[in-house]
Amino acid sequence: RLITPNSASHQEEAQERALRPKRLADYTGQHKVRDQLGLFIEAAKKRGDALDHVLLFGPPGLGKTTLAHIIAHELGVNLRQTSGPVLERPGDLAALLTNLEPHDVLFIDEIHRLSPVVEEILYPALEDYQIDIMIGEGPAARSVKLDLPPFTLVGATTRAGMLTNPLRDRFGIVSRLEFYAAEDLQQIVARSARLLDLALADDGALEIAKRSRGTPRIANRLLRRVRDYAEIRAPEQKDGINAHTADAALAMLDVDPVGLDLMDRKLLLAVIEKFGGGPVGVDNLAAAIGEARDTIEDVLEPFLIQQGYLQRTPRGRIATNRVYHHLGLQAPENDSD
Ligand code: ADP
Repeated sequence: RLITPNSASHQEEAQERALRPKRLADYTGQHKVRDQLGLFIEAAKKRGDALDHVLLFGPPGLGKTTLAHIIAHELGVNLRQTSGPVLERPGDLAALLTNLEPHDVLFIDEIHRLSPVVEEILYPALEDYQIDIMIGEGPAARSVKLDLPPFTLVGATTRAGMLTNPLRDRFGIVSRLEFYAAEDLQQIVARSARLLDLALADDGALEIAKRSRGTPRIANRLLRRVRDYAEIRAPEQKDGINAHTADAALAMLDVDPVGLDLMDRKLLLAVIEKFGGGPVGVDNLAAAIGEARDTIEDVLEPFLIQQGYLQRTPRGRIATNRVYHHLGLQAPENDSD
């Protein structure tokens, strides 16, 4: 799927790394989060302390990993990166923690997927920079306390609601990333084009921005596809790739004028055609379109809800009048909107 906000491959990850801003000043949009973090980083540096632990949450592709790297860079320390599902045993986490240098950043992506035994190790590490590890086995086993250097945990999650309360409570700084405005994405696309040495007109950048589901990762991905299209179909474009070419490329990729792709339309049409516009529970919807429930909740739904195409109610998802209108369908009477 073209617009899944997850990085699709190793190759894409490498391309993303090349486009990732390294300084807070280059991190476009998310002004509130950026200003707050900038201040906390400066204060921690001035005091000579480790930065408080930071929890970043928001849909995939909005810049959580990027921000974790920026935090380490601005603090002038190393970043160690891992993810919740990778840390299977307490020893995996203990090994990482005991190898940190003072004030280092440990970045745990998908932190809501830590196993409970690993999470247990994390609590005293976060609170007192200490861990308890078991040495030996059976009756001879004993617990040993180890001191850790002061460090900063940066945790990222798509849904803060999935964190346990004790874990959430241990983050001093909690930042929620929002979908980006088109103007911010336009700047991001223009910067990426410069880095890729690609001539892109302002209106071309805006066209891509408007169709990127509010998500920088998707914006950069669409930019690469538009570049492919332009190289073959419009090689002689003076003043760079314009809106017309971007539109033709994106239409070919089935990304509609507001950025919805085939999967989005499939989901919305299922709500309308199979469930009479809803309310429909997420499990029924998942079965109807053959997608995992998590994909619907983490990837598809947040943007559709934010844009007012879908409503989440206690009884299930409901298609709004807006989506009937967008899809060129007749809305039923008394529909909510
Ligand atoms: P997440 O960790 O939230 O899934 P990433 O940090 O991997 O998202 O971001 C995906 C890509 O989007 C990055 O490679 C980066 O190039 C780009 N990106 C994200 N946020 C920004 C931003 N604020 N400014 C510029 N580029 C960004």
